[in-house]
Amino acid sequence: MRKPTDTCLLCKANSATKKNSHIYPKFLSTNFLGPKGAPRRGYDLSSDKIAENKPRVIQDSPKEDYILCEECEAYFGVLEGIASQVFGSWEQKATDGEFSRNKIIEGLQMLEVNNVHNQTIHLFIYSIFWRVSISLDPFFKNVNIADEFEEELRQLLMLYRHANKTDYLNAVSANPSFKIFPWTAMTADSFKDETANLLFAPFSYDPYCILVDRFSFMLFRSPDDIKQDFFKGFSNLQMRDCRMMILSQELWHDAILKKPYELLVKQAVESKKK
Ligand SMILES: [Zn+2]
Repeated sequence: MRKPTDTCLLCKANSATKKNSHIYPKFLSTNFLGPKGAPRRGYDLSSDKIAENKPRVIQDSPKEDYILCEECEAYFGVLEGIASQVFGSWEQKATDGEFSRNKIIEGLQMLEVNNVHNQTIHLFIYSIFWRVSISLDPFFKNVNIADEFEEELRQLLMLYRHANKTDYLNAVSANPSFKIFPWTAMTADSFKDETANLLFAPFSYDPYCILVDRFSFMLFRSPDDIKQDFFKGFSNLQMRDCRMMILSQELWHDAILKKPYELLVKQAVESKKK
């Protein structure tokens, strides 16, 4: 267990006094619990070995104490505030024509996100994977980014670490380019049941994969690690890239949710046998 006197894992300078740091950003990761006001519940699918355990009902996206200092937490809040303008309202912006949406094949579209602060979107994605990697919560134990890569992400995040938005934006303006680690984002244009989405962190590396409610993200260490050319076209490989794959409801269900659901069913069956 970490203590408030431990050092912040991001800045490695201040005391990690912050309690309840969300590992997955809250604005991305709580829709699956259902509407506010109604009883909110989701399922924890934290492990490939979940068959051994009873399904754990969770009321909130996992939080952790004493991993960050107040300033580093505020910095992540700045990134989230800007990123929420993309991930929180892409549908409206696509409808308004601000973001462009192009059909690739049946069931698959590509969203080009325009007029956003691209640096922030890249840093925001890295901040999620970094948090998942450093987290000691059992929910995230399957995703551990290789040490040197995790440290590269930390140092990159530290370049722009400011607790308020103005200072942060000034820091990016002063030094607007940085090394891009490729990433891919997926979501669906509609969902069979909003509350049937999940938080999931399967065992993964090369690329690292996470499922955050209505979004699925992959992180690659370098463009050479993206084996399929098909995927390269959908990935964000350069600073100017900001795109997302939009799957049909059916494809999202079959390609993204099926495996976690199968695990959930297996887990429920196994726990009944006990
Ligand atoms: Zn800190």
